[in-house]
Amino acid sequence: MLPQCENCHSTFGWKKVYRYILGPQYKPFCCHGCGQNHYITVSGRLVNSLLMICPFWIFVQFFSPFSNIFLTVGVGFFLGFFGSLLSPYFTKIKRDQPSYY
Ligand SMILES: [Zn+2]
Repeated sequence: MLPQCENCHSTFGWKKVYRYILGPQYKPFCCHGCGQNHYITVSGRLVNSLLMICPFWIFVQFFSPFSNIFLTVGVGFFLGFFGSLLSPYFTKIKRDQPSYY
């Protein structure tokens, strides 16, 4: 499920959230409906990183059918990219102050 505004409950679009995740996250995420600033929580950031790193790492470690390291890493990166596409659905966004828990 995509994150919602805690203020006006409008759902943030996938593209908007994804771009925010890839961008500099010290900037607030502004709601298109009410202008309320939001921040990604630390656990949300952690999940985002895991979604990108885990598919890559698991593939490279256990599932690679290739003996060629470049091919292995290339496919691993592709899987990591695919994982990152899902991250807007798992991202937790909270309003106002940057949250540390
Ligand atoms: Zn809003």
